Amino acid sequence: METYFCKSCNIKFDATGVKEEWIDAAFGPCSKMLANCPECNAVCDEYRAPKQTSGGQSFHSHTPSCGSCCGGCGL
Ligand SMILES: [Zn+2]
Repeated sequence: METYFCKSCNIKFDATGVKEEWIDAAFGPCSKMLANCPECNAVCDEYRAPKQTSGGQSFHSHTPSCGSCCGGCGL
């Protein structure tokens, strides 16, 4: 079970989602977890807490594939 965040309802919820995998043109094989919101039934992405970075905000343009689009790398 993972934690998901619904942008429509602005809530977090726990659910057992499904893994979606695709091949990204830039990053290669990617995957993420999806689950349906219990309130509105929208498909939501897994919630990830904002990463703590020691630098400023300029460190956001190109993250590694695992940090950007791939949520299934077993962190
Ligand atoms: Zn919702």
